[in-house]
Amino acid sequence: MPELPEMEIVARRLGEALPGERIESALTPGINALKTFDPPFSAIDGAVFTGARRRGKLLLLDVETRERGPLVLLLHLMSAGRIQLFDKRASLRDKTSRVLFRLPDDRELRVREFGTRQRAWVKLLAPDAVEADEALEGLGPEAWPEPPADLAGRLAAPRPLHSLLRDQRVVTGIGRTWVDEILHAAKLSPFKRGDDLSEAEVEALSDAIASELDRVIDTYEAEVQLPLPEKFPKPTRVHAHQGEPCPRCETVLEAVFYEDYVMTYCPHCQTEDRVLKDRRLSRLLK
Ligand SMILES: [Zn+2]
Repeated sequence: MPELPEMEIVARRLGEALPGERIESALTPGINALKTFDPPFSAIDGAVFTGARRRGKLLLLDVETRERGPLVLLLHLMSAGRIQLFDKRASLRDKTSRVLFRLPDDRELRVREFGTRQRAWVKLLAPDAVEADEALEGLGPEAWPEPPADLAGRLAAPRPLHSLLRDQRVVTGIGRTWVDEILHAAKLSPFKRGDDLSEAEVEALSDAIASELDRVIDTYEAEVQLPLPEKFPKPTRVHAHQGEPCPRCETVLEAVFYEDYVMTYCPHCQTEDRVLKDRRLSRLLK
């Protein structure tokens, strides 16, 4: 988190609210979050927002600046970052503040990050530098609204689906949460190899990508409003629901635990009734 659905709703809500808003000043209390110096970040002072877009898990905010014309703020919230539009400015003691865009009437667009690690970042770029930026260069086609037509070819590698689907060069937008829902909907094992899929399985996977991301985005469209949440509603049915009954067949959902995430699946629907080894534990026991 945040993945494609979270950034899609963020782009929609900011796209409705920001255009026309003038940035009075921008502050960077999380100085490490700022990844560019040319153009200088001060070029943003006095700029007017003109739009908000998403590419994969990245957010792009378009601005019209006074001296340098149109520029683009490129943001990656990584796993613990959030962007919120508040009616009041942040307390200077707020340790989650990374980048603050002060707007008229005391309002503030705030990039925050929770936890101790500082990984979320913001870049200010000239429009023609955006596509060439290392964060966008090499990104695969969008997973949504239409998964790529050449999905079979893109997945044709001797790697497990759980890893391939999260590889942003293969298809962009899917991460650790929604991959579990997609694989469950497609009735495919997370460890099935991408080069070992039948035509029908690729079709099921493509349908599952579209329908699961649709389902999540529809939920957000109905429930997510400004200032934008710290915690998004979680319309998960499988991910992190280990120990609960499968929503389709009621078999108890199982999980494999990794250092900082969990992979949840239904043994009956996805792995021919096999319970997969917890690789982290088995590695430690070797
Ligand atoms: Zn099941």
